[in-house]
Amino acid sequence: MIRTSYYQDLTKMNTFGMKVKARCFMEYDSVADLVDIEFEELARPVLHIGGGSNLLFTDDFKGTVLHSNIDFIEILEDGNCDTSERHCERSVAISTPVLVSVGAGVVFDDFCAWAAKEGLWGVENLSYIPGEVGASAVQNIGAYGVEVKDVIHKVYCYDTLEEEFVNFDVEECCYGYRDSIFKNSEFKGRYIVTHVVFTLSRDPRPVLDYGHLKTEIERCCEEHSSRHSEERSDVGILTPALIRKVIIKIRKEKLPEPSVVGSAGSFFKNPVISLEHFARIESAAKAEHGPDYKVPHYIIENQTLTPHGEDQLPSRHCEERSDVAISTTTVKVPAAWMIEQCGWKGRRSGGAAVWEKQPLVIVNYTGNAYPEEIIGLEKRIIASVKAKFGVDLHPEVEHV
Ligand SMILES: Cc1cc2nc3c(=O)[nH]c(=O)nc-3n(C[C@H](O)[C@H](O)[C@H](O)COP(=O)(O)OP(=O)(O)OC[C@H]3O[C@@H](n4cnc5c(N)ncnc54)[C@H](O)[C@@H]3O)c2cc1C
Repeated sequence: MIRTSYYQDLTKMNTFGMKVKARCFMEYDSVADLVDIEFEELARPVLHIGGGSNLLFTDDFKGTVLHSNIDFIEILEDGNCDTSERHCERSVAISTPVLVSVGAGVVFDDFCAWAAKEGLWGVENLSYIPGEVGASAVQNIGAYGVEVKDVIHKVYCYDTLEEEFVNFDVEECCYGYRDSIFKNSEFKGRYIVTHVVFTLSRDPRPVLDYGHLKTEIERCCEEHSSRHSEERSDVGILTPALIRKVIIKIRKEKLPEPSVVGSAGSFFKNPVISLEHFARIESAAKAEHGPDYKVPHYIIENQTLTPHGEDQLPSRHCEERSDVAISTTTVKVPAAWMIEQCGWKGRRSGGAAVWEKQPLVIVNYTGNAYPEEIIGLEKRIIASVKAKFGVDLHPEVEHV
């Protein structure tokens, strides 16, 4: 079924809480509904949204906003296990991937919760990232050392140009840091993700080597075992559910809750710079803070980059970019550190502010911020980071 409304209020459909309207809003329930939509006839521009958690609406939307309610989670293959017989022995499926098909309209964290409950590994580190499954495959969401591309098998789409259903193997999605073929200017807006097939696993495959995650998990295990010293059954054993629980706790401590304080998460991408540029930043930081001061950074060995510093995209749709590629070692510096060093942490500007606990996040502090206030703060941050470090920050949040 397709529901259409006009001059639809989008305030609750974007986590920034921008008070904007869409001239036309269409919501559909099934893959088949897409065939009935006359894309040529829609008021332009056309924007497909998920949970609106990576968007900054800069004004009322003059065209058509689409939203998917395709809402299913289905195990396609579970080792030797007959999926109609869900009570089969877990041990049968060990070392065999579990293919799970998930509708684009499913809230990504509901999928993570489902996987944790099923004891399936793969998406636990991505717990509590706002948004829906369709957008996760567009954005290549990532957190705590895992990107969704690591568990994507295939992305199923409706091609609005050719009016046909197509699918992309993970290699064809040209995934990079928060990037994919679906964001590439040639294809942007053309493909509507209908569902995604993920490869999860019943075999433990914890990824704990990011930041303080391991320490937090160990602390959580210890707390549990001291509290439940008599019933040591499941307690203290590493499970997707335990990792999920710890990650949700860490995220809640650090990030604003979208239902309470509007934001779109990390506003800027972490810049990737040359080793020489990093050395200059480091020596200036040591001069400012003392010789023992350490600038947070990640070395990226032999990554293939375009001259603009973007990740090189593999596979058929990206081949045209390979002629400009150079292979080099680069350094990723947290944008949050740069923003903090420029004195922005916790600062307010009208209704907008830089989040006190995570300076990479710009928030709708008053709940009534205008898009201009968010954009004004964004521009001032970009200018001061450029002036202090000579680095160009680029927004991760999509301005529409
Ligand atoms: C508090 C907070 C924390 C966050 N933390 C993280 C984090 O840790 N890691 C991370 O990666 N991101 C994070 N984000 C950003 C955001 O959650 C992700 O980018 C998420 O994938 C956006 O999903 P969405 O459904 O809200 O998509 P939207 O914001 O609605 O859309 C994002 C893009 O996807 C496109 N799109 C949406 N649905 C479809 C579809 N079905 N078919 C084709 N295109 C589609 C849209 O056109 C748009 O280009 C955070 C955001 C917030 C508010």
